[in-house]
Amino acid sequence: MSIVVVGSIALDDVVTEEGSVSNAPGGSALYFSAAASLFGPVCLVGVVGEDFPREEIEFLERREVNLDGLQVIKGGKTFRWSGEYELDMNKRRTTNLELNVFQDFDPVLKENSRKAEYVFLGNIGPGLQMKVYDQIENPKFVALDTMECYISGNTGELKEILKKIDLLFINDTESQQLSGTFNLLSAARKLLEMGPRYVIIKKGEHGSILIADNLFFAVPAYPVETAKDPTGAGDSYAGGVMGYIARSGSVDFETLKKAVVYGGVVASFGVEDFSLDALKKISLADVEKRLDNFRELTSF
Ligand code: AMP
Repeated sequence: MSIVVVGSIALDDVVTEEGSVSNAPGGSALYFSAAASLFGPVCLVGVVGEDFPREEIEFLERREVNLDGLQVIKGGKTFRWSGEYELDMNKRRTTNLELNVFQDFDPVLKENSRKAEYVFLGNIGPGLQMKVYDQIENPKFVALDTMECYISGNTGELKEILKKIDLLFINDTESQQLSGTFNLLSAARKLLEMGPRYVIIKKGEHGSILIADNLFFAVPAYPVETAKDPTGAGDSYAGGVMGYIARSGSVDFETLKKAVVYGGVVASFGVEDFSLDALKKISLADVEKRLDNFRELTSF
């Protein structure tokens, strides 16, 4: 079953202790699509400028990502983000952000996408997330990711869309910021009260937790010794989670437990190289193999 994703599609400049890249493909929707397309069909909704590299479009085509909802603006410049990570890769600083073609983006979904059952509203303003949500005819499962700047800058709009979704992806510090609560379990409970049925709190290299009303599941991250670039880890994690859910066709807690394990494993590949380089090279078989290894590492 196909997943519709909206979010940023970017050209990134990234500096980590392991090196740097510039003009590298990135953005929430791109990382998500690279991950979720390992599991099944994805429809990408977004916008790029004429400067967006043709080979990245070709990569998405090879992964059979439906690009009917991708607008290419003549003479326009693609969204740009620059960031620098500390030695502790959980800490990063945004050094530049240019919305460019996203400033006037008006998402229009084609027939295929409007009928999708699974929806991922990736990082971009909550107003745009709502515009996409409103065009989906009969969604079965809607997930949303957000980030610090939208929590502080667009709180009202964010709270409106939270009422409509099934699953919120959020990282630890953002969950504390949005809930006003330090303890992550208490924070997750407050977030559940805002609307979603499930909340996943991502804790970077420390794994993630999944919470529903009376249910709780915690999973460590797959240990990676050679993390080069954590950019997009949250989005590739979400791509793995949503890809698994859509492929299994079920949205119960047991399915979500497995999905968060898949999400973590996919994200662990993503951080092993800069930009989308590692995600481009893997297949679902590689994910399954690492998952088997993860099972051995965590069973007792
Ligand atoms: P993550 O590491 O999961 O937060 O995702 C990083 C990706 O999100 C980068 O590839 C950026 O291009 C993109 N990004 C950074 N800031 C924003 C923003 N304010 N809105 C949307 N996407 C962003």
